Amino acid sequence: MSSNPGLYVHVPFCKTKCPYCDFYSITDLSLMDAWLKALKHEAAIYRDEFSAFDSLYLGGGTPSLLSYQQMETLKDILRTHFDFTPDVEITIEVNPDDMTREKLKFLESMGVNRISIGVQSFNDEVLTFLKRRHTASVAEKAIDLIRLCGFSNFGIDLMYGIPGQTEDCWLETLRCALAFQPAHLSCYQFTLEERTPYGRLKAEGKLHPAGECEEKRFFLSTSDFLKSKGFIHYEVSNFAKTQKRESRHNKKYWQHIPYLGLGPAAHSFKNGMRWWNHRSVERYCQALTAGEKPVEASETLSPEQLRLERLFLGFRTKGGVPLDDVSGNPKYDSTLSRLKQSRHVTVRKNRIIPTQKGYLIADRLPLMFFD
Ligand code: SF4
Repeated sequence: MSSNPGLYVHVPFCKTKCPYCDFYSITDLSLMDAWLKALKHEAAIYRDEFSAFDSLYLGGGTPSLLSYQQMETLKDILRTHFDFTPDVEITIEVNPDDMTREKLKFLESMGVNRISIGVQSFNDEVLTFLKRRHTASVAEKAIDLIRLCGFSNFGIDLMYGIPGQTEDCWLETLRCALAFQPAHLSCYQFTLEERTPYGRLKAEGKLHPAGECEEKRFFLSTSDFLKSKGFIHYEVSNFAKTQKRESRHNKKYWQHIPYLGLGPAAHSFKNGMRWWNHRSVERYCQALTAGEKPVEASETLSPEQLRLERLFLGFRTKGGVPLDDVSGNPKYDSTLSRLKQSRHVTVRKNRIIPTQKGYLIADRLPLMFFD
């Protein structure tokens, strides 16, 4: 397991805003250069604070919106201020409608070796509901190009449990995705977040999320289907073709390995301390222009809080949690044997490992050891 830190860069820009999306991004692209300038100041602040990064993740927003010039500048900023291991995993999130052969060749020349493409669905009706900018055929052409340009390490992001989507329709999307032989699939449950337009429709009773039974059915059929095709279900929402293709970067979040997040709304973690940046691009730029850290708030986690967090994160992954993290609790013995009996967990090599059934209640498992 790698213990090098990971670097995340938040690119907070999108051409249009999807009505279900709660990630921070704005559509005023005129602020891109100011963001990049501010990012340079932020990188300088953390110059000597982290050892060599072995993962770099460009997320958003829509990082594939960056122009070649902006991408070159970003690369210069990162290379000037930070060290990277020779085998660094460099991931970029892309949208299908940004993909051209020229752009992919450029990304390859920039050292990008992993692509995560946000497709969400291969069904045009679902894409229309999500108000995505691409159609299924645009997504298919984009993935063909990714493969043609020699990127074998690419993942497809998909969503299930969308209002009106049947299980058959979802499985058809999975089948379409597998036809491209992706190395990785992220399959997220569609949620109606409060502060989004669709979240507001839900509050008004005009949009209804999938019920708990339906969610469970989608989850289990996804896991069963992908496992039958040889994928490793290594985190509640993530599947990899081989262990090597699991996201090195995302595993840092789940395993409490230090990471630095640059850009608006980015989170960082080191030595039990977590801090996060202002969400607004303007506020972020103002702070850095004034020579201040763009940090909105921070927290130092006590050993007990860290332990609890390890449980919450660990029970969502196939690595599970160390027995030692729960064995001191009075309810330990009875809870563990009950969960083993009900086949929610197994115990292997001094670790409690969630089963597929355990993943379904991953967020509740830690508390069962404490209540
Ligand atoms: S889903 Fe992706 S493209 Fe849509 S608004 Fe969110 S970050 Fe932007």
